[in-house]
Order: sequence, then structure tokens, then C-alpha cells
Amino acid sequence: MTTDHTNILKGIAAAPGISISHAFIYKKEKEVITSEPITDIDEALKNFDTALQQSKKELRKIFSLAVDKLGEKRAAIFEAQMMILDDPILISSLRKRIRNEMIVPEYIVNNEISKYTDLMNLSHEPYMKERSHDIEDIKNRIIRNLKKKKWKSKITSDVIVVTSNISPSDTVLFSRVNVKGYVTDFGGLTSHAAIVARSLNIPAVVGLHEATNRIKEGELLIIDGFKGEVIINPDVDQLRVYKNKIKRLEQQDHELDKLRNFPAKTLDGIEIQLLANLDLTEEMEFIVHNRAEGIGLVRTEQLFEEYEVFPDEEEQYQIYKTIAERIYPEHVIVRTFDIGGDKVLPVDLKEPNPFLGWRGIRLLLDNPKLFKIQVRAIIRSSSHKNVKLMLPMIASLEEIRESKNLIEECKKELQKEGKAFDKHIAIGVMIEIPSAAILIKDFAEEVDFVSIGTNDLIQYLLAVDRGNDIVSNIYQEFHPAVVRTLNHIIQEGKKAGIMVSMCGEMAADPFAVPLLIGLGLNSISVSASAIPLIKNIIRSLYFDELQKLANDCLNFKTEIEIKNYMHNFFNKKLQGQIKNLY
Ligand code: PEP
Ligand code: MG
Repeated sequence: MTTDHTNILKGIAAAPGISISHAFIYKKEKEVITSEPITDIDEALKNFDTALQQSKKELRKIFSLAVDKLGEKRAAIFEAQMMILDDPILISSLRKRIRNEMIVPEYIVNNEISKYTDLMNLSHEPYMKERSHDIEDIKNRIIRNLKKKKWKSKITSDVIVVTSNISPSDTVLFSRVNVKGYVTDFGGLTSHAAIVARSLNIPAVVGLHEATNRIKEGELLIIDGFKGEVIINPDVDQLRVYKNKIKRLEQQDHELDKLRNFPAKTLDGIEIQLLANLDLTEEMEFIVHNRAEGIGLVRTEQLFEEYEVFPDEEEQYQIYKTIAERIYPEHVIVRTFDIGGDKVLPVDLKEPNPFLGWRGIRLLLDNPKLFKIQVRAIIRSSSHKNVKLMLPMIASLEEIRESKNLIEECKKELQKEGKAFDKHIAIGVMIEIPSAAILIKDFAEEVDFVSIGTNDLIQYLLAVDRGNDIVSNIYQEFHPAVVRTLNHIIQEGKKAGIMVSMCGEMAADPFAVPLLIGLGLNSISVSASAIPLIKNIIRSLYFDELQKLANDCLNFKTEIEIKNYMHNFFNKKLQGQIKNLY
């Protein structure tokens, strides 16, 4: 029995839950490519073909988006890359070498394509050097896809994935093999990978810095997504404690499940609308099961991560219609693509500051064709009058007006085409940029509702990257500027008579919920897995006392005061409700 607990790593609690399982080390960094022999040529060739197809898919997706914004010239790079993938001479010589030399495809691809790039790099022509980067890109893309292929067949079920960093799409991919947890060196609480982990109900601890150094393949781990801790090779005592906690957690889930049919009402009768965020189609049944009173945010960009090009109007219509029908008579708020930042495409466009770059509404307004296809599909799905449309990353009135013009144009077209839709479909915007928070009063005159996106609002208000663990200690939801800004949005929005909701992760934080309700927020949208717990918290409190609590918080001048105040309140009033898991 060890008493010193040097086997505990501390990080950021990114998705709640506890698991005990073995480590699977997932290395994404450029690995050394060795000339490993193969035994099954057919399988290697099949993997090679799949990797080529996947690379083409990715490039088509990038191309379809890049052409509008970057112009033919820059977008042509991606077209040229696609052509290289179709070059019969190159492909057949690669296939021939795999067959003859019987070495893993990634080695052959690296070796063969490097011959060209090395030659090009020797040239004195700057043009040739530039082109060699493009070809290098292609090579890395194929190798990455070959590795993924290999990885897929290697991973076993029920492991805890340990990696340096993880993307939202990796998170989804892993979930298909039933992983038990995510442990990463880098990343922050509101990175999209963490949000997806929460949606999938898989515990995650991120920003541990030395996880990949300290943890070895196959070691037994305990992941505590409440405290943000990972225990390596737990001793008997630690195992006993955690097995007990898992039991309590199951018991709590069981108890909370009984609340399903009760409203989210405070003890003095104030009812809070409890909505669900939808990131993955798989969540739909869970949302219905947990009796969400509607869907407060559909992250459409997340739904389409797997598509090679953006799905056409018909495909999108079918997806939105299915969601709207499933949640009927409740409402669903469909947010138009929020591409950019740490999500989907622009990674490949190599922006220097993606979070301050071509993201959300900016990208949509620059791509009216793509924007209109989505808007038409959303409007068409509204024929039962339970769909609302929401715009992401709005910073100015011009963006709202320009978008509304485009929406009107779509309505007119659909009317002419005789398509059924809700003529009064509600239009709302995310409040997630400080300029939007400041202009809330003016925005409220233009839209039917707003939803506060704290993940981005905090990031932009405090100038702290939401996905960077190095600065995660100053990414503070209880920063006085955040609390006062939220208060401003809620008060002004209510005064203007529009619906104000919140769909950022702060709405799902048990420590923050009492403050949010006290500030007067009466609608929140959280991942389906958080609904029972948040409902239980709401049902255990008096609105009266929360108003006082919020008032006190508005007067504090530092984060630490607000945080301590909220944590003390939580420990006094709520810790017992949730079996001391936090
Ligand atoms: C937010 O910013 O709070 C939000 C809900 O949007 P996303 O997390 O998708 O950026
Ligand atoms: Mg956002």
C-alpha cells in the first residue's frame, strides 16, 4: 500500500465521469517511418487505395470551400493536389513498389514522393520550391490516412486513450470503438474535443502536460473527469475508493433518472427552460430520454464533419427535418455552420490566428452559395413551425442585416417553388463576441432571440485561447468582467422582450448554474448527459436566495472572490445532492 500519491497527475476536468481501464497511447506526431515488411499484399494495397480515396475526399472538401474565398488561383493548389492523386504513372509505380518490395505502403509513399520533392528543392526556381511544399503536403496527407487505417485495426475496445492533443473528429472516431476516457497533454475545457467528449458521455482530463511521458501503453489508469485527475497504476486503496465512487455514480444516475418527468423548477416555483445541445446525431435518443424541453443548439458543422463535400440541400433538409420531427412539439434551434477556429476546415488553410480569422458568419457571408444551401434546407425543415435559425460569431449589425437579406431571398425562392415552410421562422444570433454583448440592445431590435456562447465570449473578452492549457488558469468564467457582461446581456435582452438563452459550457457547470439563474437567465442549453444533474440543482434552490447571491457576485471585484463565494455556496447547499463527486 502506498501512502504518497505520486501516481496522480492533475489536469483540467474536461468531461465528467470516472473510468478504470488500460491505457492506449495514441501518437499523432510525425512518426518515424520504418521499412516494416508486410505479409498480406492485398490488404496493404487495399489500405493504400482507401488512404488515397480519403485524401481525395479531404481535398475536395477544402477545394469546394476555398474556391469562393481564395479565388481560383490559390484554390487551384488544392485542385493540383487532387490531380497528383489521380496521376496514373505515380500511383501505378507506388502500387508496383508495394507489391515487389513488400514493405508497408507509408514507407514506399514517403520514399517515392520524397525523390520528387528532393529534386525540386535543389532547383533555384522559387516556383519549383513552392510546388515541392504542395507535393510534401500530399505525401503527408496520404501517410496520415494510411496511419489512421492502421490505427483503426490496432485499437481494442474499452481503453483510455492517452495522447498529446486530440481533435473533435478523433474524439468521434475513437468513440466508435467504445473508449472509456480521454487523457491529453494539451487542450482546454471548452476546446471542441472536450465538448464532444461530454456529448458522448466519455470522461476526459486534458492539459496534463506529461501524460504521454508518464503513462505507458497498457498501464492501468483511473480517470476522474470530475476532479481532473488521472491515477497511474492505482494501488489497492485507490482502486477501492474509486470502485466505490463508480457505484455511487451509478446510484446517482439512477436517482436522477427518476426526475425525468419533473420540471426544472426552483423550490419557490421559478421555472427554467432546460434545453439540450446536439453535436452528434447519436445523441438524439438520449436527448429525448432525458426529456429536454427542446434543442437549444445544433452544431451543424459537427454533424457534417464526416462528409467529403458539404451535403447538398436535400441531404441537409433530411437531417434537419428528422431532428425537428423527433423533438416535435418542442423546438429546435439550428445554428448555421460555425466553421473555423478549431473546427473542421481552415486548419488546412493555415491561418495564423484561426480563432480571430475566417470563422462562422464571416465565412458564410463570403460563401453565399454554401450559406444559401444551408439556409434553404433549414427553412424547409420548419414546416411544422418548431425550427429556429441561429447565426454564429456575429460581431455587427451589418452581419445580421446581410444574413437576414439572404434569408429573405431564400424564403422568396422557396415560396415561388411552392415549398412548405414557416413564414415566421424565428431568427436568432449567438452572443459570443464582446462587440455583440455591448450591442445587445440594438441586436435585440433585429432578432427574435439570442443565445449566449460563453465558450467564445470568455475567450474573446479575456483574450484567452479556449483550447490552450497553458493559459487555462486565466480562462475564467467567474471573472468579474464575465459576470457583469452576462448580466448586461440578460438584463438588456429581457428588457427588449426577446428570449435570452445560454448554450456555452458555463450553463452546464454545476458551480455556475446558481449564479446564472440568479442573474435572471431562465433558459439554458446543455449536453444531454448534463440535464439530470442540472435539473436536480435547480430543483434544490430558492430563486430568492440566488438573486441575492448574484447581486453579491456583481459587486465583487476579483475572480477569486466570486469563485470562492460560489464554491462555498455549492459545498453548503449542493455537495450532498451529488454524492460528493466534485
Ligand atoms: C460557445 O461559443 O459558447 C458556443 C456554444 O459555440 P461553440 O462552442 O460551438 O463555439
Ligand atoms: Mg462559439
